[in-house]
Amino acid sequence: MMLPVGAKIGIIGGGQLGRMLAVAAARLGFDVSIYCPEADCPAGRVAQQQTIGRYDHLPSVLDWARSCDVVTYEFENVPVDTVHYLVSSGCDVRPGARSLEIAQDRLAEKAFLRDAGIETAPYVAVNGPQDLARALTQLGGAGILKTRREGYDGKGQLRLVSGDDCEAAFSRLKAQPSILEAIVPFSCEISAIVARSITGESLCYDIPRNHHVEGVLSRSSVPSGVDQTTEAKAREAAICLAAALDHVGVLALEFFVLADGSLLANEVAPRVHNSGHWTPEACRTGQFEQHIRAVAGWPLGSVERKYRAEMGNLLGHEALAPFEAAPAGSVITLYGKREAKAGRKMGHWVRLVD
Ligand code: AMP
Repeated sequence: MMLPVGAKIGIIGGGQLGRMLAVAAARLGFDVSIYCPEADCPAGRVAQQQTIGRYDHLPSVLDWARSCDVVTYEFENVPVDTVHYLVSSGCDVRPGARSLEIAQDRLAEKAFLRDAGIETAPYVAVNGPQDLARALTQLGGAGILKTRREGYDGKGQLRLVSGDDCEAAFSRLKAQPSILEAIVPFSCEISAIVARSITGESLCYDIPRNHHVEGVLSRSSVPSGVDQTTEAKAREAAICLAAALDHVGVLALEFFVLADGSLLANEVAPRVHNSGHWTPEACRTGQFEQHIRAVAGWPLGSVERKYRAEMGNLLGHEALAPFEAAPAGSVITLYGKREAKAGRKMGHWVRLVD
């Protein structure tokens, strides 16, 4: 069913993605309510309403969700139990719990990708220092130890080679269930951003090439410059993944591109994505509007790209002098965060080229 104009969209999470989703929803005539634990969050300040509460406090989340016509989320660490509870209490949550479940756990994520026919880097589950030593040997003497949960932007990761102190490495990552992943000699990184509607219609944006610095996305540019067969494979994989998850909304799949053009999937984000921040300026329909359309049961908009584009993040203090940090003539978006901590994503710029 298509939500009527004036319906209320609930967003779990109060960060910049929630803020940009709320702005897009308002443009389409929806009311927006944000649920998050922090007062004065970036999303809450542009929404009609905000409820402050813990993500795992079921009565409070349910009470809020019942005041909304549909609920979505803007980050992947929303407790899966909370989403199950909302759904079993009769609330519409889009995307559903399945997309969250696999994105929250690197081991489940990799297994799901492989089951869906999407290749990943070789990996081994690691539950203790002995496992780690064995895994290092199995992967040829080097790897990246990543915690199964809560790691993002390169956090919760450690590069290791045989002979390193496995006990110390495992405890540095707080002795959590982890995976050891082979180090991929990639030639570049790309991502596929796909939107899937409630009727199963899927549209994928043009593929951006992504450049990370210390595990954090720094730049995305389109066109990617990788060959079209590789881009087509990336699109196809993301569309297939969204269907396998019965995902509704936007989803991003990050890839490593190898020298021979083959792809290894790295990470799934069940939401709008930093590497898609150029889409509102460069495409007929931006990723935030597209996500809102999908969760509202509306038809998707065209993803046709009108410009070549480059997107850069404004981190920490860069956002205090954005016109100096961004290229001349670019479109600047700032997230309204109160404190410019080092490395914190404070805004981004998009430079368009005809
Ligand atoms: P992640 O948080 O897993 O997306 O990792 C952040 C970034 O670290 C990636 O975008 C890559 O630039 C780098 N990275 C992660 N895993 C690997 C790997 N297995 N081999 C090489 N580089 C990696």
